[in-house]
Amino acid sequence: MKKRIVVKVGTHVINEEGKLCISRFEKLVEFLSLVMEKYEVILVSSGAVATGFSKIKLDKKALSNKQALAAIGQPYLIQYYNEFLQKYGKFVAQILLVSDDFDSRKRTKAARDAVNTLLKNGILPIINENDTTSVEELVFGDNDQLSAHVTHFFDAELLIILSDIDGYYDSDPKENKNAKLILHVESIEKNKLCGNINAGSEFGTGGIVTKLKAADFLLKNGRSMFLASGFNLKDAKDFILEGKHSGGTLFAAKE
Ligand code: ADP
Repeated sequence: MKKRIVVKVGTHVINEEGKLCISRFEKLVEFLSLVMEKYEVILVSSGAVATGFSKIKLDKKALSNKQALAAIGQPYLIQYYNEFLQKYGKFVAQILLVSDDFDSRKRTKAARDAVNTLLKNGILPIINENDTTSVEELVFGDNDQLSAHVTHFFDAELLIILSDIDGYYDSDPKENKNAKLILHVESIEKNKLCGNINAGSEFGTGGIVTKLKAADFLLKNGRSMFLASGFNLKDAKDFILEGKHSGGTLFAAKE
């Protein structure tokens, strides 16, 4: 039986200067198709707001405008995934969730059953927060928390976060050019989980703290997380397809 993994893609990876970055999107989709050969894959994709903004310029400072942009962008985003994945003979399904869904055993089971059926049929489930009824990840998180919950509650062993940063450093590499990448993290100190949630740009809302929170949740539930660049997929490919860990940060208990 194939192992199950979740891949989460940050907004910056698929969008640039207010529109879809085709070259990176193509590489991402190729990566997903390769990983789907070896694993059951669930995708959590951000980028709906930025995609919506590429269609209509609403002021993103207002939360209701962000919700509207997500509603506009989401179907386009799914359409792009479908179009690009067709080349590899695969297609996608959309699942919109809110964190409350995981508070209810009944709703979690219903969602898990649907996801299991999609995976059994070789379809890529693409999950996003339902930003119309919940704004948690829209305000802070950029789907980092959601993807950790998806990993745990849908029985995946690993979450791969593809970000604008190529791993977790001992300090913010944008502020400290001597920052060093940490290859392996076994546990996360409490004080690291309450820092500033500062995202990389006007569209991103995650930042490193929400990623550490996601990792912490998974470690406490016996699962792991791999944080790697979504701009250059070499480290992610090496790790997941070749079993080589040369870059990117693995958050996992030592075996
Ligand atoms: P994404 O859009 O992929 O969710 P974000 O841009 O929101 O990612 O968060 C990643 C950013 O967090 C990095 O670009 C980096 O500037 C910042 N950051 C702050 N501290 C660290 C750290 N210790 N290690 C790595 N990145 C850090």
